Amino acid sequence: MNDGKTLLAWWNDPVDYSWLVGTLAARGALGPLKILNGLAGVVIAIMGAVIAGSSIGPVHPEITSTIGIGSGILWALRWWFLPWPSRVESLVLIGMADVLFTVAFLQVPDRLFGAMGAVLLVVTGSYLGFFHSARALAVHTAWSLLSVVVFSVRIATGGEGVRLALAVGLLLVAAVVSVLPALQILYWLMRTESLSDPLTELLNRRGLEIRLPRLVDGHPAFCVIAFDIDRFKEVNDTFGHRVGDTVLRSTAQRLQDAAGAAAVVARTGGEEFVVAAPLAATAARAEAERLCRAVAEPRASEVEVTASVGVAMFDTAACADCPRPTPERLLHAADAAMYRAKQGGGNHVVVDDLTPPPGHRH
Ligand code: GH3
Ligand code: MG
Ligand code: MG
Repeated sequence: MNDGKTLLAWWNDPVDYSWLVGTLAARGALGPLKILNGLAGVVIAIMGAVIAGSSIGPVHPEITSTIGIGSGILWALRWWFLPWPSRVESLVLIGMADVLFTVAFLQVPDRLFGAMGAVLLVVTGSYLGFFHSARALAVHTAWSLLSVVVFSVRIATGGEGVRLALAVGLLLVAAVVSVLPALQILYWLMRTESLSDPLTELLNRRGLEIRLPRLVDGHPAFCVIAFDIDRFKEVNDTFGHRVGDTVLRSTAQRLQDAAGAAAVVARTGGEEFVVAAPLAATAARAEAERLCRAVAEPRASEVEVTASVGVAMFDTAACADCPRPTPERLLHAADAAMYRAKQGGGNHVVVDDLTPPPGHRH
């Protein structure tokens, strides 16, 4: 992948929030994270109490401090006693915290101390960078930059001197604005890396398992097409592993090129691939046959191979009240159909329609 493509992919990745949360939950990391997030609220409430009524505290402590302390406590209670927030609630919570931090620290009379409040935006930004998309972090970064400018202008207009204002502003830009997007790109790259196959650069099995639920839940009709290259061991045995690798890479490329942008393409095992697409009955079969031919097409300087292809599909239009099959069931059915194609001699397609026939519905 070249640099521009990587950055574009990072920018466009919607980030699977529920998968991230589910993964952390499975590793037992969600509990400790909830405690930590709550503690941040406690720390802020204590800080609010420490400055309330003092010379560095806000001018109207009865309002500002009460809001600050109250929000900190509510924040802690929310994280400690309620389940992990949904994606939207998570974004709303962080958005409210961002606004509150900047507005509250604009109320303190000491303009230098006020500017230090911008540091809190690193805390919310770190959370966003981990759990949410590049675009969400971009909004936060724009808010951080605006806050830093406002804090700096406030110092400059308070008689502290333009140089001090500029110095504080630049310091805050370096710490609060610049670091998090860079960190998010690196973190996103590592995560993407763990979900893709190094040989073909397609998604690996784990990557497919993450993308499949989105496809199944987001479309009225969908199909999973499983490919297994026929007698691939012979390719390795006759021409060597290196040639085998080249064949795998070009098969991946052919599937990717032929499948189109709406499809999800993965290498699920050694010489096994899966294409999942939002296609219904006839189109799904035609697509599988087209892809089967694309794999078998003669290769200029390469060994020719064919694949056995199994299709599992489901169409809500054909049965509105039938429960959607799980991604596991789709994969399993496509695999079983692929084995039937293999038993039939390979290089052809077997279809399994999971939409129950009219007589078998309840
Ligand atoms: P069938 O027609 O029944 O599918 O036979 P097959 O030989 O394709 O299937 P089998 O499962 O017996 O063998 C798969 C082979 O794929 C064995 C393994 O050496 C090879 N393979 C798996 N991963 C790789 C890889 O990354 N590179 C290469 N070159 N070969 C691989
Ligand atoms: Mg196989
Ligand atoms: Mg095979």
